[in-house]
Parts: sequence; C-alpha cells; structure tokens
Amino acid sequence: MNDSHETGHRLRDRAAFAVPSRVVKAPVLIVGAGMAGLSAAWWLDRQGMRDYLMLDAESAGGGNSRWGESPSGPYPWAAHYVPVPGGGATLLRTLLEELGVLHNGEFEERYLCHSPQERLFLHGSWQDGLEPELGATRTDHAEYRRFQQLLNDFAASGEFRIPLAAGARRRVDLDQLTFSAWLDREGFRSPYLRWYADYACRDDYGMQAADTSAWAGIHYFAARRETDEKGPLTWPEGNGWIARRLIDRVGAARLRTGEFVAHLARSGSRWRVTGSTAVYEADIVIFAAPSYLLPHLIPSQAAVAALPRRTYAPWLTANLWLDRWPTERGLPIAWDNLLYRSPALGYVVATHQNLRQRQDQTVWTYYWALAGRDPAEGRRQLLQRSWRSWSEAILTDLSQAHPDIRACVSRIDLMRFGHAMARPTPGFLQTLLPRSPLPGLYLANSDVSGLSILEEAQFQGVEAARGALKCLQRRG
Ligand SMILES: Cc1cc2nc3c(=O)[nH]c(=O)nc-3n(C[C@H](O)[C@H](O)[C@H](O)COP(=O)(O)OP(=O)(O)OC[C@H]3O[C@@H](n4cnc5c(N)ncnc54)[C@H](O)[C@@H]3O)c2cc1C
Repeated sequence: MNDSHETGHRLRDRAAFAVPSRVVKAPVLIVGAGMAGLSAAWWLDRQGMRDYLMLDAESAGGGNSRWGESPSGPYPWAAHYVPVPGGGATLLRTLLEELGVLHNGEFEERYLCHSPQERLFLHGSWQDGLEPELGATRTDHAEYRRFQQLLNDFAASGEFRIPLAAGARRRVDLDQLTFSAWLDREGFRSPYLRWYADYACRDDYGMQAADTSAWAGIHYFAARRETDEKGPLTWPEGNGWIARRLIDRVGAARLRTGEFVAHLARSGSRWRVTGSTAVYEADIVIFAAPSYLLPHLIPSQAAVAALPRRTYAPWLTANLWLDRWPTERGLPIAWDNLLYRSPALGYVVATHQNLRQRQDQTVWTYYWALAGRDPAEGRRQLLQRSWRSWSEAILTDLSQAHPDIRACVSRIDLMRFGHAMARPTPGFLQTLLPRSPLPGLYLANSDVSGLSILEEAQFQGVEAARGALKCLQRRG
C-alpha cells in the first residue's frame, strides 16, 4: 500500500514544515509531474525553453499515469488508455506522432487495443462488450437505441468536445441537474441502461450517476463518438508508456522527485517555493498539482481563497500478480473485464497486448472508485481498512467469475488515491478555474476544467506553458 498521504495531511493540519537552507534558482518551476506538468514541460521544450525545473512529491513522476514493473512486464497503477484521437485533436496527435504512435495519419497497430477488447460477466457467464445484452428485452433494446440517437444528436451539436474548451457551452441547463435526473426526465427506465450509465460515471469520474452533472454524463458518451470504432490506444503500463517517455525528455537533472511543495509565497516579482530539500526561487510557477492544495500552500491570499472549490473522488487500485491464468468459462479473457453490479470496475490485463505470445504469468489491474455520496467517507475507508480487508473484498468480487482466482494470485499490491480526480458535480461548468490567479502563477492540472482525462491534462499543461512563455517574453 502506498502511504504518501501523511505529508499531505500535515499540510491540511497546518503543521510546521522545516524550511531547507539550500536555495535553487530557476526561471520556471513546474510543480507536479503528472500528465499536466509533463505536458507543460513538453511544450516548453518544443518552444526551445529548456531552463525549467520540475518537482514532484512522489518518489517517481507520472501522477495518475504512474506504472510498476513485474516479472511478466510493466503494468499501470491508474490511467490505462487513450481513446484514438480524431482529426481535430491536434495537440495529442502531435505528441503521438513524436512518440511514433501515429505515422502519416495511421496509428501503429501494436498500440491499438487487440481483440477481444471488452467483456461483461452477467447472469453467470461472459458476454462480448460492456452494454448488457444477456437477458435484455425488446424494451431494453428500444431504450438503448433511443439513448444512442440522443447521444448522436448531442455529438453533432459540437458542444461536447475534448478538451472541454473546444466545445460551445450552450446547454448549461444540463449542468443544473444530475445525470440520473436527466435519464428520469427522458424516460429511461431500463435497469440495464441505468446500470451502464452509472458504470460510465464511476469509471470516468469516480462518482455515481446520481451525483454527476448531466452535462458531464453526456460528455462521457458524446465527446468520443467520432473515433469509437477503433482503438483505444493502450500499452502494458497504460498511459505510463507516454508518461515514461515524457519523463525521459525532462531528464533526471530537471526532475526532482520526493520533493513535496509545502509553501508558495511572492517575494518581489518572483516566487519562493518551499520544497522538502530546497527553497526554489522562480520567475514563474506552473502549478500542475491539484488546485485544492493552493489555499494550504498560499494562505491569506484573497485571490486563492476565492478560487472555486472542487470535491475529489477517492479510488483504490490493485495489481494482482498471477502465476497462472484462472480457468475460463465461455468467452476468452479480454483487455477490459467487468462484472455486472460489482461495487468495483473490474480489471484490465496488463499483458493483453502480448497475448499473441501467450505468457504463463500476468498482472491484472483492478479498479475500484469509492463512489459513495460522500467522498470523505470513501477516504476514511481507504485509510482505515487494512490490506487484508481490501484484498479479501477484491478476491471475493473476482471469485464470482473466477472461482479458482485465489489459487492463481501470488501477490496483491494496493494503491490508495485519496483525491484521485475532480468530481464534475452539477454546476461544475460554472467553476472553471482561472489560468493565472496571481502574477506569474499558472494553473495546469486537469482539475482546471474538472474533467480528469489525459487529453484534458495535456491541454491544460500546454495552455499553462503558453501563458508562462508569454509572461517571460513580456518581462524581457
Ligand atoms: C484510477 C484512475 C484511472 C484512470 N484512468 C484513466 C484512463 O484510462 N485514461 C485517461 O485518460 N485518464 C484516466 N485517469 C485520469 C487521470 O487522472 C488523467 O488522465 C491524468 O493522468 C491526470 O493528470 P494530472 O497531471 O492532471 O494530475 P495528476 O496525475 O494527479 O498529477 C498531479 C501530480 O502532482 C503531484 N503533487 C501533488 N501534490 C504535490 C505537492 N504538494 N508537491 C509536489 N508535487 C505534488 C502528484 O504527486 C502528481 O504527480 C484515471 C485516473 C485514476 C485515478
């Protein structure tokens, strides 16, 4: 189990942090080496601005796109795929071209998720795809079709785009109610369709449909329709594959890990940033850590105190090392494997892209959004329940579909994410964060928009870097 929450809680409890005596100067300081911070660095490098440092509290970069290593290969700790970007997604396509994933408009075959991609364990057997089919009645199917038609219309409206800033925001009325309330209003009663909609919200936002903004619920389905048929793009270590390459470009000399930022203060026209091993003096700070930290890091600043507050979803993920594969009934194992009505979100097979060369051992990454109504209660559970209790719950869940799972697993590692992602609750469209709340401070985390996905993190990181470059130019 990871335990980096302790330092964060000291910040929350206003404990005193030692101020290191070493002072390091840098024109630009990036706080946070998740996809947003790494994207800011990528953009600065592309523009020829290499004089920056990047700090991260954890022992390795990547944030929610971190990965681990096992004898059967690497595996993700959280983010594990990117939908194939459409023609309009120029930033992501530029990056993927640089990384050799996209050549002349074609995606490298080995990075497109191989078949079988998804299966659902329903009524005691596996079915292909995640939309429940086994036992679905004509009424259920009629609702599926009506739902898809509405989503096609929403997609065609140009409102639901990635990044969020690329779309118009005319239907703010849809941000005034929950996704469940919208489904009720539209007369969607099929228990299967309602389960599927709820699964989508738990999967992308870590929250139930009953708490999710209807605008965000629709966005999940409508924003990616253009490219749904092919892909997604995935790698054994998930989005860690991209993070790893961006981290390599930043390089060890510029990335300082294990550097928890505990304080930021203006000092003349510069920023003084207190880390664990040094105080950094910078002209510009690109803040790519989550924004809920800012009032703790920059106390008594009216502009910071006035920032819209978001709530964050707690998540648990587990990596199960398997010495052998469980016996399968029915369909062969897929990349993404989901159990109907499970409290969790199933598992992804890290060795899936190698399945052509069948391996004896594998790693399954199991996802569990603690999507109860009160995220604070989920965080309490994360802290209070033991490794044994979580592992037992995971194995019990998986046993429904894999009765021999306990005999196959040799190791279970857990990761607790207390504040994994911003929750798009009703009204979130009104709470987009300002890019630069204070002079020389640029916000970059995906929570600026409130949608926690790789494309959004990349966009926010690049926009923050653009702002920082303009500011440097102005200052000469
Ligand atoms: C379980 C899970 C599964 C996901 N799956 C997907 C997926 O498949 N596809 C997808 O597109 N998205 C997925 N996401 C969303 C994911 O959050 C985004 O894709 C993206 O990685 C977010 O990047 P970020 O840089 O905005 O934030 P983060 O990844 O949270 O990065 C913030 C960084 O700031 C650092 N930090 C925090 N506090 C401090 C401090 N005080 N000092 C210094 N550093 C600090 C953190 O250590 C972290 O590295 C998933 C998220 C989770 C939790």
